[in-house]
Amino acid sequence: MSKPLSDHDRKKQISVKGLAGVENVADLKKNYNRHLHFTLVKDRNVSTKRDYYFALAHTVRDHLVGRWIRTQQSYYEKDPKRVYYLSLEFYMGRTLQNTMVNLALENACDEAMYQLGLDMEELQEMEEDAGLGNGGLGRLAACFLDSMASLGLAAYGYGIRYEFGIFNQKISSGWQVEEADDWLRYGNPWEKARPEYMRPVHFYGRTEHHPDGVKWVDTQVVLALPYDTPVPGYRNNIVNTMRLWSAKAPCEFNLKDFNVGGYIQAVLDRNLAENISRVLYPNDNFFEGKELRLKQEYFVVAATLQDIIRRFKASKFGSRDIVAIQLNDTHPALAIPELMRVLIDEEKLPWDKAWDICIKTCAYTNHTVLPEALERWPIDLFQTLLPRHLEIIYEINRRHLERVSSLYPGDMDRLCRMSLIEEGGQKRVNMAHLCIVGSHAVNGVARIHSDILKATVYVFKHHVSQISFHAFTWYIEQTKFFLIFGREISNDYVLLNSSQAAPGYHTAKMIIRLITAIGEVVNNDPVVGDRLKVIFLENYKVTLAEKAIPAADLSEQISTAGTEASGTGNMKFMLNGALTIGTMDGANVEMAEEAGEDNFFIFGMRVEDVDAMDAKGYNASEYYNHMPELKQAIDQIAGGFFSPKQPDLFKDIVNMLMHHDRFKVFADYQDYIKCQEKVSALYKKPKEWTKKVILNIAGSGKFSSDRTISQYAREIWGVEPTLEKLAAPDDLK
Ligand SMILES: *Cc1c(COP(=O)(O)O)cnc(C)c1O
Repeated sequence: MSKPLSDHDRKKQISVKGLAGVENVADLKKNYNRHLHFTLVKDRNVSTKRDYYFALAHTVRDHLVGRWIRTQQSYYEKDPKRVYYLSLEFYMGRTLQNTMVNLALENACDEAMYQLGLDMEELQEMEEDAGLGNGGLGRLAACFLDSMASLGLAAYGYGIRYEFGIFNQKISSGWQVEEADDWLRYGNPWEKARPEYMRPVHFYGRTEHHPDGVKWVDTQVVLALPYDTPVPGYRNNIVNTMRLWSAKAPCEFNLKDFNVGGYIQAVLDRNLAENISRVLYPNDNFFEGKELRLKQEYFVVAATLQDIIRRFKASKFGSRDIVAIQLNDTHPALAIPELMRVLIDEEKLPWDKAWDICIKTCAYTNHTVLPEALERWPIDLFQTLLPRHLEIIYEINRRHLERVSSLYPGDMDRLCRMSLIEEGGQKRVNMAHLCIVGSHAVNGVARIHSDILKATVYVFKHHVSQISFHAFTWYIEQTKFFLIFGREISNDYVLLNSSQAAPGYHTAKMIIRLITAIGEVVNNDPVVGDRLKVIFLENYKVTLAEKAIPAADLSEQISTAGTEASGTGNMKFMLNGALTIGTMDGANVEMAEEAGEDNFFIFGMRVEDVDAMDAKGYNASEYYNHMPELKQAIDQIAGGFFSPKQPDLFKDIVNMLMHHDRFKVFADYQDYIKCQEKVSALYKKPKEWTKKVILNIAGSGKFSSDRTISQYAREIWGVEPTLEKLAAPDDLK
């Protein structure tokens, strides 16, 4: 018998001849040693594993530089229409492996590291995730950057360089504990600071109305310092830019006008300004109306628009076509009043001309219909922080309502419903309405979601269905584990009635505690033995998702119909070989259509059933009383079966499920259990199971972000994707 192949040997066997060419490997080794010496300033005696990772990262990065510069030169020369993707989140994960794959360097690097006595996969594990996102919305932005580069679009991602990304989740005695994600501690080899392109962003102050226009004066200035990260396309030698802004206090900060505490205090107070880019708000589908968050939203928008306008003015055929700005949810919605402000107050354009440009430029993607997620900023906050923008929003609204009332004379209800300003109680700006009025295209993230938007909000001019994810290359041992995706589960159960955020977080944390408690009982039950394990995956992030998702057999996508806009995890499981048990919600609908309903485990209420139930009234105890198994499970949770030392630990969860469950989960319970029995029966027939898996994978093409971006390009941005390649540079020999 021959010796089993090592990982390295196996890869070597399958590597395509030429990719790991001998010359390439020799050059990589030479450049690697050069970086260890000159960049890391280390020798092999004192190098740590992290040093070895950084040396490899710099070696690979060198291969991006020529392509990056040449791509940007070609955009300058050909001057295609630019696409700007504005997002408060870019959930990038790691960069090294993706770069090696896209540049076809993976095998050669693996061989080079092997020859140097190093294990490349071990080095890859040293890279921090760029966790600048909460979940689907941020990961979507990251996938879109990848696809825009792969399709040769002259595109840019614009966001914030948070010093702290999504928190590190530790589980301690079963409870979630958050730790700061200090991802930049050891430096980030992929970014390039561009202090020469720093831009001022203004806050506060007041407006002055003069005959020759409006002035926004007495403002406080914070500087936006750009950091550029290369975004390589898949083997086309195109490298686009993601530009993330970092907040920097100006040198004269607090020294000029507000010098109360003296020089030392003024220098210490610089932190206040620089806090703007300090930390990502860890809210998924939840609006928390904090001033610092509104500052973040304006900060990215104001800095980005200066960049866009500068680049537009510098372009050769500048007047030929306008640029495209895509708003990833309402988070960058201030782009609309900010663009109006610049065009009117600074460029001195008349309102109608400015508005025409604004509408043609902006497009908006809605990510949810859940009310607790909708951004509705209090007017007072706006008045203080962005007084000129509030005036512009009032004027946009005045003209908007004038049109509405001419179309529907006397329909006061409609005027209230469609206003950008919510009256009654605290006055607020409805950012979704602002986006809808100020954009030429509005889309949801799945077909059913777009349909719900159209039915429940108002006339949408446009829609694109769907989003996606790319294939993974990771592979781990098959498990019989019941894996729970840590951050995901609890997000949806934020209670509605929380005027302060605490109760929502409380519910989320209690659900995590319940899962770990169930694990403690099930995993130690002698009757269950090794047949079932409940595992809560701690600190779920992009890198963990890449490893865990391909290991799954069954993907549970069990949101109550009408509540999940799309989901993206569902697609990742589908194209990585899991079958799905799911409701007719979000992208599940289209996934079942593509795979064939026979190859999909569909259960539960449809949106119409949920609407009918809402009309009739949902009563959890009816289900509880009529299903002994459900009753037993709830009684066990309520009675301390999973928390013997603290029998009433989960009383809030039980109370929520029994008395104010917005998601009506008991109503889907019976059908879910019946459907799970079908799953179990099929799982016993591996051939039939595998056939369905193959049909699912074969049907998953629609959910590629390349497909999605091609559609955005043609239908929203008015640009044509190309499969053109740039010539490869040959500058590293
Ligand atoms: C895809 C992804 C998500 C979003 O998953 P959904 O199932 O769409 O909520 C969240 N976190 C990570 C790390 C992901 O990769």
